[in-house]
Amino acid sequence: MPRLESPSSINTFKQCKRKYYYTYKLELPRKDSIATLTGKAVHDSLENFFKIDIGNINKNNYNTLLRHELMGLFNNSWTKALPNLLNLQIDKETIRNYYQDCFQMLNNFINDFLSTLSSIINGSSFQEAFNKLKPKTEVYFQSDQHQVRGYIDAILNFNNEIYIIDYKTSSRDDVSEEYELQLAIYALMFKEKHNKLPDKLGLHFLRHGTKKFLEVTPDLVEKAKRECELIQLKTTSDNIDDYEKNPGPLCKWRNGQCDFYDVCFSQKKLGDYQEKLIQINKAS
Ligand code: SF4
Repeated sequence: MPRLESPSSINTFKQCKRKYYYTYKLELPRKDSIATLTGKAVHDSLENFFKIDIGNINKNNYNTLLRHELMGLFNNSWTKALPNLLNLQIDKETIRNYYQDCFQMLNNFINDFLSTLSSIINGSSFQEAFNKLKPKTEVYFQSDQHQVRGYIDAILNFNNEIYIIDYKTSSRDDVSEEYELQLAIYALMFKEKHNKLPDKLGLHFLRHGTKKFLEVTPDLVEKAKRECELIQLKTTSDNIDDYEKNPGPLCKWRNGQCDFYDVCFSQKKLGDYQEKLIQINKAS
């Protein structure tokens, strides 16, 4: 039975086969990190922002109220994330800095959103203008043909053009190969479901307040198909020896390390996973 992959699992395989093996074959637990927890708080805030009740908002108060709503949602998400953040045993100053960073990212987002809103609001009500810019958020796609699935952050139909947008909280705002493949797979899944390609594939770099778009070409989609085929072919084995390590900067960095660093580079913990290895070998 082929495994349903995702842009994330395919990119993990391309980065380090051993990491793929531990994550998706053995399904070893991953630790929360400050980046994943705070990134989730930002994503949740944006998702919920487009579900707010806009009945009491109008052209005179939308600037203040929308900003207020988004920041209120962020504070709720942050409060939910806080116990897990404190569990990371990181000093409070670092957590505060992350809070400020996330706040700034959402501030960049709302500035951009309000500016676009003000450019289209003339001649329509606030509600009409807001709904024009309101994407569908966290949309689940699954391609049985290509054995891949994923959640798309936002899909917007604006002026008869379909935009697929992924929000990024990363410190860099370049379109890496990894991001390109992620968007290409989204385009592939969108096409399978709707029988047409999206018009724009975009990355919204929240930290930088910038948006970058990729051209949607047949080549891009072909590349996504190839990667989906390749991963199925290359992951049929359940033998750890077929998944080589890729020692390098992804193993350990200035203030963190790969979840599996100890398993890869310390004999001590290998034994913990032998049980799991035996189970997977029995099942296959
Ligand atoms: S520690 Fe390095 S080699 Fe080991 S799984 Fe992580 S990235 Fe791969």
